[in-house]
Amino acid sequence: MKEIVILGAGYAGLRALHVLQKSGADIHITLIDRNSYHYESTSLHEVAAGTQKDEKICYDIKDVVDTKKTTFIQGNVEKIDSDKKEVYVDQKTLSYDYLIVALGFQSESFGIPGVKENSLEMVDVKTADQVHRHIIEQMKQYKETKNEEYLRIVVCGAGFTGIELVGALVEGSKAFADIAGVKPEDIQIYCVEAVDKILPMFSDRLGQYCLKYLDKWDVKLLTGKPIKKVEPGAVVYQNSKDNENDLVALNAKTIIWTTGVSGSHVIGDSGFEERRGRVMVKPNLTDPKHDDVYLLGDVSAVMDPSSNRPYPTTAQIALKMGSYAGKDILNQMKGKPSEPFSFKSLGSVASIGNTHAFGVVGKTEVTAYPASFIKKAIMDRSLFETGGIKEVMSKGRFDLYH
Ligand SMILES: Cc1cc2nc3c(=O)[nH]c(=O)nc-3n(C[C@H](O)[C@H](O)[C@H](O)COP(=O)(O)OP(=O)(O)OC[C@H]3O[C@@H](n4cnc5c(N)ncnc54)[C@H](O)[C@@H]3O)c2cc1C
Repeated sequence: MKEIVILGAGYAGLRALHVLQKSGADIHITLIDRNSYHYESTSLHEVAAGTQKDEKICYDIKDVVDTKKTTFIQGNVEKIDSDKKEVYVDQKTLSYDYLIVALGFQSESFGIPGVKENSLEMVDVKTADQVHRHIIEQMKQYKETKNEEYLRIVVCGAGFTGIELVGALVEGSKAFADIAGVKPEDIQIYCVEAVDKILPMFSDRLGQYCLKYLDKWDVKLLTGKPIKKVEPGAVVYQNSKDNENDLVALNAKTIIWTTGVSGSHVIGDSGFEERRGRVMVKPNLTDPKHDDVYLLGDVSAVMDPSSNRPYPTTAQIALKMGSYAGKDILNQMKGKPSEPFSFKSLGSVASIGNTHAFGVVGKTEVTAYPASFIKKAIMDRSLFETGGIKEVMSKGRFDLYH
C-alpha cells in the first residue's frame, strides 16, 4: 500500500484528496492542516469587512475525510526533506511515497519597513477576523475621542484583493458608522497603490467601470504613490514620481496590507529551488528534482504558453491542479506516462461589494448584476468542488444575495 501525504486542506489539497479517495486504489492518505476547518480564501475580504460571517466560508475538514482511506492530522507543517521523503509536523516525522504540497500563500511585504509591525494582514480566517475586530474597536474609540483618524481605513495595494476589500468595506461602512455614531459617508476609505493603473489584468473599460463606483462611493484612491514605509498609525508614500524626498504620511488607525502574496515559507525553508515561495514545476506539476513531490496552487509556478509568464495564482487553477495531481499519482502507480498539465482560464470576476462586480467570463466582459451573479456562482462551484453538495447546502449558499 502506498502512503500519500497531502499538506494543506485548501482548494488544491482537498481537490486532490477527493480524486484519490474515490479512486479505489491501494493507498492510504494522510491529510495535514493547521486548522480543523477548510476556509475559502476567496471570501476573506468579506469576513474582514464584516459583510460575511466566518462560519459561512468554513467547514469541518472531517466532513470530507473518508476515515477508511484517510487520516487527518491537525498540525503545523514545519519542513519537508524531499531526499529522505519525510515531513516534519510539530514534533512528529511522517514518511511518504508521494507528497502533495498545497500550503497556499502568505503576505508579501517586499522588504518595505514597518509592514509587519504596523499593518494588519488578511491571509486566513484568523487574520481576517482580526481586521474586523480591529475596525470595530477603532469605531468605539472614535465615539470616545472624536479623533477622525479612528474613522480612517487605509488599504495598501489596489490589486484584485485590495479592490475587493475596498468594495466590501464600503458595504460594511453603515455598520461601522452605527458603532461610531456617525454617517456612513464619514467613514474614510483610502486605497494607496504604487502604479498608475489599477487592475492591469482587465481592459480599460472594466477598469473605468470599477473607478466609476469607487468615485461614487467617495473612496480615496491614490495611484502612482509607492509606499516607502509603514509607521505606527501612518502609511508613508512617495507623492511625486521624480522626487524621492517628497514623502507624505497618511495617518490612520486601521492599515491593511494587501499589496501581494508569496507562496508558503515552508517551501524556502525546505530548500526547494523557489522564487517568492513558488517552485517552477515540471509539466506534471512535480518538483524538478523529485518525481514524487507535487507542488500545487499558490506554491507552484506553471508557465502560460500564450503569455510566456507564469499563470496568476488563483483558486481556479489550484482546483485544476488538485484534480490533475490526484490522477497523475494514480497513473504513476500504474506505470503510465504523465499527460502534461494544461489549463484554460474560465475568466475572472472581481466583486466590489455584494451586488457589484466586473470581469471576463470566457472572452466576454461582464459588469453589474450579471457579473455579481456569476461571481457567486463561481464561488459556489469551488465550494462544491472541495466540499460537495452537502457543504453548498449547509452554507445556505443558494441564497446568492446574503
Ligand atoms: C481576498 C482574496 C480574494 C480572492 N479572490 C479570488 C477569486 O475571486 N478567484 C480566484 O480564483 N482566486 C482568488 N483568490 C486567490 C485564491 O484564494 C488562492 O489562489 C487560493 O486560495 C490558492 O489555493 P491553495 O490550495 O494553493 O491554498 P489555500 O486555499 O490558501 O489553502 C492552503 C491551506 O494550507 C494550510 N496551511 C498553510 N500553511 C500551513 C502549515 N505550515 N501547516 C499546516 N497547514 C498549513 C492553510 O490552513 C490552508 O488550509 C483570492 C485571494 C484572496 C486573499
